Amino acid sequence: MIVVQKYGGSSVATTEKIAAVAKRVAERAKEACVVVVVSAMGDTTDELISMARQLSSMPEDREMDKLLATGEQASSALLAMAMHDLGIRAVSLTGGQAGIITERTAGRARILKIDVKRLREELNKQNVVVVAGFQGITENASWADITTLGRGGSDTTAVALAAALKADSCEIFTDVDGVYTADPRIEADARKLDTISYEEMLEMAGQGARVMHSRAVELGELYDVDILVANSTKDVPGTVIKKEDDEMEVRNPVRGIAHDTDVTRITVAGVPDQPGIASRLFATLAHSNINVDVIVQNVGTEGLADVSFTVQDADLEKAKKAIGPVTSEIEAREVVVDQNVAKVSIVGSGIRSNPGYAEKMFTAFAAAEINILSITTSEIRITCLIARNQVKNAVRALHRAFELEKA
Ligand code: ADP
Ligand code: ASP
Ligand code: MG
Repeated sequence: MIVVQKYGGSSVATTEKIAAVAKRVAERAKEACVVVVVSAMGDTTDELISMARQLSSMPEDREMDKLLATGEQASSALLAMAMHDLGIRAVSLTGGQAGIITERTAGRARILKIDVKRLREELNKQNVVVVAGFQGITENASWADITTLGRGGSDTTAVALAAALKADSCEIFTDVDGVYTADPRIEADARKLDTISYEEMLEMAGQGARVMHSRAVELGELYDVDILVANSTKDVPGTVIKKEDDEMEVRNPVRGIAHDTDVTRITVAGVPDQPGIASRLFATLAHSNINVDVIVQNVGTEGLADVSFTVQDADLEKAKKAIGPVTSEIEAREVVVDQNVAKVSIVGSGIRSNPGYAEKMFTAFAAAEINILSITTSEIRITCLIARNQVKNAVRALHRAFELEKA
C-alpha cells in the first residue's frame, strides 16, 4: 500500500513540530509505504520573498524560483533527519530528484510529467521518501532549472505524486480539521464538511479558500484521486474531496463561502469604445502570465469606456508594467489602482439549477449595508467585489443567510 501525506508550513513551523510529524509518519510507515511532501517551515517563503524585495525591485524569475525552493529543501532534509533519529529509514529528495518535470514558466510552473523511477526505487529499499513540496525542474537535463509551482503549491506536489504512483491514499495535513463552510478563522460558526466535490472545492480554492491549492484539486479530479484534508496534530475525521455523490438531480445548495482579500482592482479609464481594445489589453496581461478576474466594462459615453479587472496583489507591479505600453498606445485617460477591495463568493452545485441565489446574496449584503462594486458568476458560484474592510461582515452575513451553520 502506498500513502502520500503532505504537511503544510504551520505543521512543520518549528523543530518540535517536525519531530511530532516524524512520529506520525513513523506510525503510518508501520503499515504502508509512505511518501511525505512538506512545505517550508512556517513563514519561510514570505521571509525569503521579503529578503528578495529588499535587494531588488523586481527580482528575476529564475533567481526567485531558486531562492524559494530552498524553504522546502530545508524542511524535507530536517524531517528525514528526525525520522532517522526514530530509527526509521528515510531519504529526502528535491522536487527535481523526485522526478517532477515542469514547464519553464517561473513562479507558477505547471507539472508536465513525473518520472517515478527514483521514487519507486527508494520505496523498494523500504525508505520513507520525504519530498520537498512546491517545486520541480525543467526538462533539459544539461540546462535544467529549478522551478516553483505557485504559492500553496505543495498540495499540488502531493496530489501529483499520488496520481503518478497510483497511491492508495492521499492525505493533506494542515492546521484546521478539514474544509469548512467558511474560513473558520473568520466565521466562528463555520462547520466542517465531511465531503465536498472537486468542482465545489475548485471554486472555493479559486476564490480564496487557501486550505487547498486549486491545481491540486484539478489534478485530483483529472486522475480520480480522493483527497483527505485533515488536522496534522489531532486524530479527528477530516474532509474528503471527491466526485459528487450520484443523487441524480439532488444537488447541494450553497456549500460554502469563500473570500479573498489578496486582490487589487485596476481600472483603465477613458479607453476608445471600439472593437479590439479589450483583446489588446488582456492579451498583454496573458503574455505576462497574469491571471485576471472580475472584468467589467462600463457603458461608454462620448466614445470612451472604462475597463476594470482584478489581479492578485502579488501581480500588481507586473500587471502595471505589462499594460503600460498598451494604455499609452490607445491613449487611455488614466490607470487607477484600488487595493481596498476583496472578493466574497457563494459556492454550491445547486446554484446551477436553482434561481434565487443571487437575489438572496444581494439581499443579505443590503441588510448588512455592504455595497457591491461588481459581480461575476460561474455555473456554481456567485462572486461580489466589495470593500476590503467589510469582508468579515460579508462572510458572516452570507453564512447566516444561507444557514450554513446547520447540518
Ligand atoms: P498549510 O500551511 O497547511 O498549507 P494553509 O494556511 O495554506 O495551510 O491553509 C489552511 C488555512 O486555510 C486555514 O488555517 C484557514 O484559515 C484557511 N481557510 C480558508 N478557507 C477555509 C475553509 N473553507 N476551510 C478550512 N480552512 C480554510
Ligand atoms: N511554501 C510555499 C508557500 O508558502 C508552498 C506551500 O506552502 O505549499 O506558498
Ligand atoms: Mg497551503
